[in-house]
Parts: sequence; C-alpha cells; structure tokens
Amino acid sequence: MKRILLLLLLPLGAFSQNKISYKVYYEEQLANNGLKVEVSFIAKKAADSTVFHYSNHVWGQDSLFKSLVLSERENPSVSFKKNPEKDELIVYHPKGKKVLFSYRIKQDYKEPDYYIVSRPRVNDTFFYVLGQSLFMVPKAFTESAEEPDITATINWIGFPENFKIHNMYASQQKKQVIKDDLWTGFYNVLYVGGDYRIYNFSVKEKPVYFAVRGNWLNEYTDEFLSSNLQKAILSQRDFWNDYNQPYFTFILSPTVTQSDSLFKGSSITGSSVRNGFMMMATNNPFNSQNSYKYILFHELMHDWIGQRIRNKHEELNYWFSEGFTDYYTYKNRLRVKDISYDEWLNSFNKEVIEKHWSNPERNIPNYKIKDDFWKSRNVEKVPYRRGAIFAFWLDNQILLKSNYTKSLDDLMRELLKKCVAEHVLLTDELFLELATNYLDEDISYFFQKHILNGEDIDLLKEKWIEGFQFQFQDEIPQLQMINNNEEKYLVR
Ligand SMILES: [Zn+2]
Repeated sequence: MKRILLLLLLPLGAFSQNKISYKVYYEEQLANNGLKVEVSFIAKKAADSTVFHYSNHVWGQDSLFKSLVLSERENPSVSFKKNPEKDELIVYHPKGKKVLFSYRIKQDYKEPDYYIVSRPRVNDTFFYVLGQSLFMVPKAFTESAEEPDITATINWIGFPENFKIHNMYASQQKKQVIKDDLWTGFYNVLYVGGDYRIYNFSVKEKPVYFAVRGNWLNEYTDEFLSSNLQKAILSQRDFWNDYNQPYFTFILSPTVTQSDSLFKGSSITGSSVRNGFMMMATNNPFNSQNSYKYILFHELMHDWIGQRIRNKHEELNYWFSEGFTDYYTYKNRLRVKDISYDEWLNSFNKEVIEKHWSNPERNIPNYKIKDDFWKSRNVEKVPYRRGAIFAFWLDNQILLKSNYTKSLDDLMRELLKKCVAEHVLLTDELFLELATNYLDEDISYFFQKHILNGEDIDLLKEKWIEGFQFQFQDEIPQLQMINNNEEKYLVR
C-alpha cells in the first residue's frame, strides 16, 4: 500500500524543481516608493553571484529596466549589475546557497497615456503589473526547459484591508503558492491591487471573478459589465461543453478617464492570459456597450481557440485562431440572443465582408501576413476577416452535406477534444484532415487558393444553405436572407 502511494507522489515532487519565494510589501505613497519585492532563493550550489532574469521587452514595450529600482542602501551586503540587453540582473551576494535581496517596481511613464497598457502601473491607490514585470527569476529557471515550471510562494505584506489583492491565481489571498509553467503561466498573468471592486459567480461550482476599478461613464455600470461577462462565459462553456476551468477572472482597468470628448474615440486592449482575461480601456463618452460585448465574446473565445487549441505556427495560423474566433463571436452572440438574427446578418455584412472587401491588402498571401502583421493595421485585419468568411463558407458546406444535422460547431468540438487528449497543436494539415471527414471531400485546393494564396472566394457562385444568397452591392458581396433560416443555420 505504501509503495503505491510513493509512486503516485513522485511525479508531483518532480514538478517543483524551480522554487522561489517573494514578499511584496505595501507602503504608503506607493507611486513614489514603488512596490517593494523581496526575493528569497536557495541555490543548488554555493556561489557568490547569481544571474536573474528580468524581461526588458514585454508585449511591444521596451526598456522595462527603467521601472526596476535597485537600492544598495536596502541591500547592504549585495551589489547589482544590470544587463538589459540580455534581460539579466547579476546579483553579487555573500558566498553561500541562500540569495536574499529586494527591488522596487515603479511606474516609469507619465499619465495620462491612452495607449500604454503593458508597463507597470503603480499609483498610491492601486497597481497593475504583469507577471514578467513584477517577479524576477534565477536565469537558471529559464534554461531548465523550453517551458520551465515554477513553484513560487508570494506573501503580500502590510496591505490594508480595503486594498484588494487580486490576480489570475486567487482573490484576496495574502499567501499564495503557485505551481505553473513559467512563460505561459506565471509570467503570462496580471497582478492587481488597490481600489478594485470584486464580484464573483460560479459556473457548475467553478468560481469566476470580476475585478473592476474606476468610475465608468456611459452606462458601463458594474451590473452591466458583470452580467454580460457572465452571459459570455456561460455561452462559451455551453458551446464547448467544457466546464473544467477551476478558477477564472476578468480584470478591467481604465487607462485614462475623461468625461469630455477631447480624446476622439476609444482605445481598448484586451488580452487572454492564464486563467483569465484582462482589459485596459479608455473611459470617456465614447464607451460603447456593443464594443464591450464584442470584445468579451471575442477574447473569451481565445481561451479555447488559441489557448487549448494552440497554433503550431502562430501568425501563419491566424486565419484560424483569429478568423474562427471572430466568426464565433458573432455566431455565439446570436445563439444566446445577445443580438437578433437581423443584427447578426447586418454585422456580418458590415464588420466582416464589407471591411474585408474594402481592405486594399485583402489578397495578400498568407505567408506575408506573418512579416507584416505587427506593422500594418490593414494586414493585421486580413486573417480575422478572411478566416471568418472561410468559417462561414465551411459551416454552410457542413450543414448542406449533413442535411442540417451537423455544422462547423461539431468539427470545432472534435478539434478541441483531439488537441487536448493527444497534446497536438493546430496545423493546416490537421484542420483539413478533419474538414475532409465532414465533407467527404478534400478541400485542400480551395484552402490553398483562397486562404494561403489569398484569392477572393466567389461568394455569388458558392453554394449556401437554404435561405442564404449573395448579391453585389456597390461591387461588394452582401449576404442576403431570402427567408428566415435561423433554425437551419443554428441547427436547433
Ligand atoms: Zn483575437
């Protein structure tokens, strides 16, 4: 009996090679002093210096060493050497296995700034900092595997009762023990604290938290924000029939709050991260309920398309991870009656087809999207819309072939099962193989021509389910509903 137990425990013990502890301290005047982080680490061998990793570039932001403050006064027996080009901090310490020192994380940019979202923000009343920018780890951790694991203990010390501590691992827990992957987990999360208001609900007994701060304008009440989060999460877990997520949180923070209309428009950044989703947005009279809901349904879908079903070739597979995510943003909003069938038709025509047809880059070959994705707004949009149109085409073909008993939804669920159970990544080949099973026909040529080479799909000539047809309006194809076919489209 004992022997069996031991065997079962071994793999768990093997997980935690990379162990480290942090203490994060509260101080008044946080903006001035920064967040003080104390690191405590026991090395395997005695040494008089240890190299730590601190990311100088994160999500398009560089020179992040500027937000790192090192004080020799606070570390009398330690000295430091910064090496930002290599993401390194060398810590010279008394010879031994134990390494103990502290640093501070400060906000290094001036407010208001409408666009900066991934640099540490540290104010007297709140902070939000990405994992990579808050916690440094011994360089050896990063070299221990391609995706190293980490066991980190975090103690939040001295934070007043009304200064909330919340992140993608727990809410209001002053002592956290986190076991996760380093890059896709521990570093790919947001840590917040301060005047956040925290709400929670559960889906099949699994908790979901909503953390929000600031006073939002234009009917962005906490009730509106939270109830739509609940709606989006429910619809997607129902769609995938996947209720496994043990903890999930959405964190919403305003970047710049302005009750006048001096800043024309809104700037919203949403990112799907480990165990959650974060959004930083301008808060002004342009807050739109519709764009909030669009972003929720889109970004939360990435939990599956992008996270659980992961691309093998990142940007080269964006036709899938962005295109199909976008397609299901509309289809799922329709499914849960967040939008009517007319609204669905309208937005698909306007936001997807029209915008794609008026995009001068729409015929760019897929391989070029990889190079120009981050440089050109027009190129960036191509995989979203090209992919969504392809998804719509494929959905129709499966409905037709199965005589309205199956749809793209079934293919997606099968794909999820396969990727999770067999630990495989999404490739064009894998996807085409599955599609062939549903269509009894190989669509590789169609895929090559329209998705990889980028030629327009002749929407007027293709076959569509009963009730749909395309017609040109000002040289742009538009989807028309000849008779209401909602039941057929959604296979109810
Ligand atoms: Zn997306």
